[in-house]
Amino acid sequence: MPDRIYNFSPGPATLPQEVLAQAAKDIVNFHDKGIGLIEMSHRSKEFMAVVDETEALLRRLMDIPDNYKVLFLQGGASTQFAMIPMNLLGPGRKASYLNTGTWAKKAIKEANIVAEAHVAYSSEESTFDHVPKTDDFTVDPDSEYLYLVSNNTIYGTQFADFPQSDKMLVCDMSSDILSRRFDIRPFGLVFAGAQKNMGPAGVTVVIIRDDLLDRAPDNLPTMLRYKTHADKGSMFNTPPCFAIYVVGQVCKWLEKIGGVAAMEEKNREKAAILYDMIDATDFYKGHARPDSRSLMNVTFNLPSPELEAEFISQATKEGLDGLKGHRSIGGCRASIYNAFPRQGVLDLVAFMKKFEQAHR
Ligand SMILES: *Cc1c(COP(=O)(O)O)cnc(C)c1O
Repeated sequence: MPDRIYNFSPGPATLPQEVLAQAAKDIVNFHDKGIGLIEMSHRSKEFMAVVDETEALLRRLMDIPDNYKVLFLQGGASTQFAMIPMNLLGPGRKASYLNTGTWAKKAIKEANIVAEAHVAYSSEESTFDHVPKTDDFTVDPDSEYLYLVSNNTIYGTQFADFPQSDKMLVCDMSSDILSRRFDIRPFGLVFAGAQKNMGPAGVTVVIIRDDLLDRAPDNLPTMLRYKTHADKGSMFNTPPCFAIYVVGQVCKWLEKIGGVAAMEEKNREKAAILYDMIDATDFYKGHARPDSRSLMNVTFNLPSPELEAEFISQATKEGLDGLKGHRSIGGCRASIYNAFPRQGVLDLVAFMKKFEQAHR
């Protein structure tokens, strides 16, 4: 077996090798304390320092103002689809949603269970091949917030600019958090499952403006209230210790390479290499409209499903793993998150050229 393959998996996804190496050490013996990281009390001085440091790193990297809380929760990004309307809406209240793919659709479904979701825009008819611009939709005036998914992992689309709205924005950033700079102030709440771009599965980061913590109805159970977790610094119950620790290590790595601005530059460069390849031929066809293209998930098709299967199988043999598209659209998808190395993108492009010559 090769030492390390190129892992194009959409999530859980590739992590920096130095983070994995450090985690392997710390799991066995944390900071030479004679105890492993995942054996320590979550209330120990050592672990509390891990949580504090992870939060501080996220605040620095994302420039998060003091009037936002940073929470480390469980239940995955999918639990947020329900927790958001449960805490911010409730019966008889409304929010507007942009339906730009599977994850948006699932959030709309949950919102309709506890409140009302107004679908302000949908790109479903064109297989979610684009995201809207501000002028393409109207937000229901009674909406408490406008909900969007910044990067549509499955379809390979992304908002290059966030919509302008007089409503606060609520955003699922599961697959592009920490990949580019943005101003958090128009957002009331931003959340992300860690396993795409910042760590392992098991923790969901929720960043919420503190005035929203008191909106929840009285009949909401304790664990489902953001305020419960905010008041206790994510320590109301046992938090996902290992996952939080890895997010902290990934943040340290990111800070060391120059922070989000430097990362964004690298991400733009990596994505451009792939899209240039796709645009240079009609053998490969991009799924996303050029103005909606994702810097994180590059989706494309070959002339036939048979060729796609052959492409994926040969690529896997050459150490280019995880290129199969999501079952809902088929085709191929190269997920090139923050930790995915530029060399892997160059190798994929070389493979694509070779494959095209052999099969066109
Ligand atoms: C993967 C993904 C989710 C689902 O995350 P879970 O942690 O598995 O619930 C939600 N939204 C987006 C944008 C995703 O990419």
